[in-house]
Amino acid sequence: MYIDGCWEQFPDRQHFVSVNPANGQALGSLPDGTAEDAVRAIDAAAASLQSWSATSPYFRADILQKAAANVTRERETIAELMSLEQGKPLKAARNEINYAADFLRWYAEEAKRIYGRTIPSARADQRFLTVQAAVGVVAAITPWNYPVSMITRKLAPALAAGCTIVLKPAESTPLCAKAMIDAITDTPIPDGVVNMITCSQPAAVGEILVTDPRVAKITFTGSTAVGRHIAAQAGQALKRVSLELGGHAPFIVYDDADPVHAAKGAALVKFLNTGQACISPNRIFVHENIHDEFVSTLAARTSKLQAGSGIEPDVTVGPLINEAAIQKVENQVNDAVSKGAVLQTGGFRLDEPHLSDGHFFAPTVLTGITDSMLIYREETFGPVAAVMSFNDDDDIYALANDTHYGLAAYVYTQSLQRSYEAMEKLKFGIIGINDINPTSAAAPFGGTGDSGLGREGGMEGISEYLETKTVGLSI
Ligand code: NAD
Repeated sequence: MYIDGCWEQFPDRQHFVSVNPANGQALGSLPDGTAEDAVRAIDAAAASLQSWSATSPYFRADILQKAAANVTRERETIAELMSLEQGKPLKAARNEINYAADFLRWYAEEAKRIYGRTIPSARADQRFLTVQAAVGVVAAITPWNYPVSMITRKLAPALAAGCTIVLKPAESTPLCAKAMIDAITDTPIPDGVVNMITCSQPAAVGEILVTDPRVAKITFTGSTAVGRHIAAQAGQALKRVSLELGGHAPFIVYDDADPVHAAKGAALVKFLNTGQACISPNRIFVHENIHDEFVSTLAARTSKLQAGSGIEPDVTVGPLINEAAIQKVENQVNDAVSKGAVLQTGGFRLDEPHLSDGHFFAPTVLTGITDSMLIYREETFGPVAAVMSFNDDDDIYALANDTHYGLAAYVYTQSLQRSYEAMEKLKFGIIGINDINPTSAAAPFGGTGDSGLGREGGMEGISEYLETKTVGLSI
């Protein structure tokens, strides 16, 4: 754990083990943090808040740039660690580290653009102006699926705004978090500005982070259930909250789209990170005129994916994070097949000798999905492409919007009119039109409904860490 500028060693304390999901082997052990550790971390963050928020934005920018350079320098080491601890292929891990460094660089620049405004008054002897101030101590709770970029997506704007931070990374990927905090704090950053608690049972530490009156803002990425719980706790104290939660992305392919091109896109985005992404397509709607060609391309590409440990050179799809994830995927596939869905490829757990100690599920394509199936409603967070055909353009937005989630949606079309309709009618926070990667450090990311509150990334991302003060001036 990293508190007040020190890596604390606790030889006598209880530790927990981080495990490789591809083979069950232990990768390392970490101190199992407690509520008392969380209080000490908040002590440090609170003590350093005033001096950090009073620094020049140019000073903070310089530190963030140095952190970005360190992360980039350590890219190979952290990528290998991420492949081992989280499971994604090495190439995807490298991409994630680039994305993580982008947040540090983007917010280094945004620190210098924390502008206020001057506002004319109805009174001739009065002027208004606004100034922006750091919200205060931030608690950041991050997930395992993107174990390094979700740290910088929160930490970079928080530090740029002048906030100090206590990070609690996911219990499945604490070594990735440790490597990131090492790189970020190998800079002239003052003690206490960045702190990290590792723990295996997040509820007790989480409760302190959310309820301690010195924490002004909670930023969370993870499940909707935990997000709801955190928002309720934070609501009691009227704290600022940002939540990036689950998703259930529709992927619409109109009959004017190239079915092969769209299917290649669907295969790439669906199986990225073994489907463990909140923006992963969960319902793929394909116009009946091109359905069969789309499905044959998607199934052919899916069946060629090579499952294994992300660290192996030819592997294109890694393990799921744990046994519960396998069971959720199996349950959704069995439910769909029992209600009439057709398996085009996959549909089973992979248990060949070299995979049997890990959590591997065959990349799967299901067709004939209906709204009575679990997969139509529940987020899968696994490697299953669920396809249904449609024939009526007027119904497609009602179908696509038929979910409590509202994070990402995808549309394939050659029509400008349909593109605009998609932008205006889809109730999702992120819309990819002929584009499977509608994300960037420079662009806001976030959703509606059960997908959460607030935006991360872009100029919107830093405003989550700022309070606006209005000043009235009589002259
Ligand atoms: P989770 O919500 O259990 O865990 C996310 C983070 O919250 C972790 O750091 C965890 O330790 C912490 N946490 C758990 N319980 C807590 C509590 N009571 N108080 C404070 N912190 C707590 O998510 P998960 O089980 O790892 O993933 C399952 C689901 O979460 C997925 O199916 C998906 O819906 C969602 N998820 C979404 C994203 C995303 O990017 N939006 C990322 C990961 C997971």
